[in-house]
Amino acid sequence: MMAAPADDFRAAIDAQAPALLQIYKDLHAHPEISQHEERTSALLAEELRKAGFTVTEHVGRYPDGSAAFGVVAILSNGEGPTVLVRTDMDALPVEEKTGLPYASQTAGAMHACGHDLHMACFLGTARTLGAMQDRWHGTLMLIGQPSEERVNGARAMLADRLYERFGRPDYCIAQHDTPDIAAGQVGMVAGPMLSGASTVDVTIRGVGGHGARPEATQDPVVMAAQFVLALQTIVSRQTAPQDPAVVTVGSIHGGTRPNIIPDEVSSKSPRELSVRRCAGTRWPPSSESRAAWPWQPASRKIVRPLCRLTRRNPCRLPTTIRRWQRG
Ligand SMILES: [Zn+2]
Repeated sequence: MMAAPADDFRAAIDAQAPALLQIYKDLHAHPEISQHEERTSALLAEELRKAGFTVTEHVGRYPDGSAAFGVVAILSNGEGPTVLVRTDMDALPVEEKTGLPYASQTAGAMHACGHDLHMACFLGTARTLGAMQDRWHGTLMLIGQPSEERVNGARAMLADRLYERFGRPDYCIAQHDTPDIAAGQVGMVAGPMLSGASTVDVTIRGVGGHGARPEATQDPVVMAAQFVLALQTIVSRQTAPQDPAVVTVGSIHGGTRPNIIPDEVSSKSPRELSVRRCAGTRWPPSSESRAAWPWQPASRKIVRPLCRLTRRNPCRLPTTIRRWQRG
């Protein structure tokens, strides 16, 4: 419940921007991948305490029993609704090659999804509202969400009785950067903003042999090549145009030597076959209905691929994104 004109906030935000930029660069230089956000969560917790919040760390429990690095910060300021503001904290397991002076100092990890930016904005929100408590009333519930990239950090916090321990919010606000909106502009939607993603492990099974005797084998490399291309026809020919979907094969593995036809090709780690969809029909096909998958046999005796759905995270996409520019 705000009672302050926007100009007050603009001045407060402008005054904070240099310090927040420093925090952003520090976070960018020290990325931590999913489930390893130890330094990051400690930094957030310290800054939130300085901003006047009551902070609880290590909120969240993964299915294997290990603790998560979730952060919950509460600021109660009289009667009014509870507003949850969330930032994600984890980086991606990719090598940074930007050459920036504040580039990642951790080999094999980078804030390539913008969670460093989200955290800097999140702390700006905490500082601004913490310093202006005479201008609003209600309860703020600021959340540092671990392991967003693996889609298990939010669930870990809920499993640790997040809402029972800290209260159930009336409103939830989250943000994500996007290359589609110019710097200085903000887009807003009510409800879900991005697609859900499901992940499927696929193993193409063949019969290996010598590369000089292909007729005696069932070559899974050729089958896999056909399979990857045929997958795209699911989107173009089996999915309704009003039901947006994307299929990405992020990794493919098979074979050891140039002259050996392997027994199988798989899409297993580090990045499996990823399916992003937004609404509508059940997708990707369940294991029962996988006979419907596109499949042109590259061999006489085809062995059906093994498909294992490892993650499903459904979501709906809104029809419009409203944007405006700061004046
Ligand atoms: Zn992200």
